[in-house]
Amino acid sequence: MKNLSLYVHIPFCEKKCAYCDFLSFQADETLQRTYLLAVIKEMKLYLPYVKDYEIQTIFFGGGTPSILQEGEISFLMENIQKNFNLSPHCETSIEINPGTFSLNKSKEYRKANINRLSFGLQSTKENELITLGRIHQYKDFLYSYDWAREEDFCNINVDLIYGIPEQNFKSFQETLNQIFNLKPAPEHLSIYHLILEEDTPFYQLYKSNQYPLPDEKEEEKIEKWMKNRLKEGGYLRYEISNYAKKEYECYHNLVYWNLDEYIGIGLGAASYFKGRRYHNTKKLKEYLALNTIAWCKAQDLSQKEEIEEFIFLGLRKIEGISAQKFFQKFAFPIEDLYADLLEKLKKQGLLKQIKERIFLSEKGLDLSNYVMSQFLLD
Ligand code: SF4
Repeated sequence: MKNLSLYVHIPFCEKKCAYCDFLSFQADETLQRTYLLAVIKEMKLYLPYVKDYEIQTIFFGGGTPSILQEGEISFLMENIQKNFNLSPHCETSIEINPGTFSLNKSKEYRKANINRLSFGLQSTKENELITLGRIHQYKDFLYSYDWAREEDFCNINVDLIYGIPEQNFKSFQETLNQIFNLKPAPEHLSIYHLILEEDTPFYQLYKSNQYPLPDEKEEEKIEKWMKNRLKEGGYLRYEISNYAKKEYECYHNLVYWNLDEYIGIGLGAASYFKGRRYHNTKKLKEYLALNTIAWCKAQDLSQKEEIEEFIFLGLRKIEGISAQKFFQKFAFPIEDLYADLLEKLKKQGLLKQIKERIFLSEKGLDLSNYVMSQFLLD
C-alpha cells in the first residue's frame, strides 16, 4: 500500500477576521449541511483511484471546521472510514476556533478518532484579539483547552501571531509565557508573522495610511527572544513557523513540505496526486452543482515548476532538502543546475550543507524569502 494524506476544507466562519484572505465566509446551517453532502460526493469520486493507498494523515482545515453542528464531524469521519483505507496510526487533526467549541464537541471528536487539535488562539491579549477581528476571548480558549485535556487529547497545537498592529515585545512575551504556563503546555506551536494580504480590511487601512505598521526593532526583539524561549521550553523548530516537542511534529504538514501525495476535498482544495497537481473550483455554486471530478482542474507542472516547488517547500523545513531525493526525482544532481548559487549562498552564510542535506542557516531562516527567490528559474 502507498501512503496518502487527506485534507478536507470547511470554508465557513462566524465572521471574517481583519487579516484573513483564506477561502472562508458565513453560511447558515442548511447551506453547511448541503456542502457536507457535496464533500462526501466528491470523496466517493476518488474511490476507484485510491484502492492501493493507505491514509496516513487527515486534516480538517478552513475556515472553521469546529463551526459545524454537533455530529457533523463524526458524519464526515464515518464516511472517510467507510470509503478509504485508514492506517491504524492515522494522525487526524482539526482546526478549532475557541469561539465555536464545547465540551460536547470535544467528546464527539475524541469518539470520532480525531487525535490532534489545533486551536487558532493568535494572542492572549483582548485588545489584540479585537484588532484582529477574532470572535473569541482568551477565556474561551482556556475553557476549550480544558475541555480538550479532559477528553485526553494529548497532541495539541496553538496558533499565535506576531506583528499585530500596536503589539509590542512585552505583550507578545506575556502571550507566549501564558501559553507556556498551561498545564500541560501544548505539544506544538505555530507562530506566524502577520502578513498584509490584499483584499482584507487590514490592507484597505494600509492603503489609506491608517494601518499602524509594526516597529521593526520590536519585531527583531520578539524574534530573538522567542527563539530562545521556545528552545528553553523544549520546543524544536522544524519549519520556519512551526515548533514541536519531540515527536509531535505535524505529519500532515510535513507531507506538503516533502511533496508527498495528498488529496484535498472541498471548495478550493488543492491536491498533489499521481504526479499531478489539482485545484478545485473556488466558486461555491459551481462546487455544489457539479458532480464529476471535472470540477477539479488538473495542472501538469513543468519540470521547472516541480524543481522550484521541491526547493521552496523543502527549504521551509529546518532539515532542508535532500540532494539524493532531488536526484531520484529529477534524474540529475542538484549541482548541475545550482552549483554557483549554492556556493554563493553558503559563502554568504545563508545556506549550509551537511553530507547530502542542504538547509537554511539561522541567518538564512531570517532571510528565507530572499534565499528562496534566488532559486527561481526563468
Ligand atoms: S477564523 Fe480563520 S479562516 Fe475564519 S476568518 Fe478568521 S482567520 Fe480566516
